[in-house]
Amino acid sequence: MTVDCPLCHPAPTETLLWQNDQLRIILANEPDYPALCRVIWHTHIREMGDLAPAQQHDLMHVVFIVEQALRQLLQPDKINLASLGNLVPHLHWHIIPRFRNDRHFPLSIWSAPQRDGDCRQKDIDVESLRHLLTTRLAASITAAAVTDRAS
Ligand SMILES: [Zn+2]
Repeated sequence: MTVDCPLCHPAPTETLLWQNDQLRIILANEPDYPALCRVIWHTHIREMGDLAPAQQHDLMHVVFIVEQALRQLLQPDKINLASLGNLVPHLHWHIIPRFRNDRHFPLSIWSAPQRDGDCRQKDIDVESLRHLLTTRLAASITAAAVTDRAS
C-alpha cells in the first residue's frame, strides 16, 4: 500500500459492488460511462505477471463474470477489457460496455471524443448488477466474503 496511490484506498466516488480478500469490483461512476466497472486487486501489485498463477486465474475469472453480467443487463455492441496502469501502476481492469453512439466509439474511451455521447450506459441498474455478480461469484468462488459495505 502506498500513501499517494488512488487505488490503494476506495475513492469516495466509487460504488462497491462486491469484494473478497483479494480484490474489489466497483462502479467507477464515470460521467460518460456510468456502467464502467473496475476490478481492482487489493494489494499494490504492478503487473499481471507479478501475481501467482492461481491469482491470475481468479482475477481474470472475476473480470469475465463482470463482462457477462454487463452483457446480460445492457446488451452492449461491444465490451472493452483494458488493463493499462500507466498512470496508476496498481493492478486493475476496466470492463467497459460500448455502444455505437457512445462518446468515443469506435475509439477507446481515452481517445478524442467523436460526438456527444448518448448511450444505454445510463440504464445500468446497480442493484441488479450487484445481485448478478454476487450470485455468480458465490457459485464459482468459494469462501468469498460478500459485502455491500458501500450501500
Ligand atoms: Zn496502490
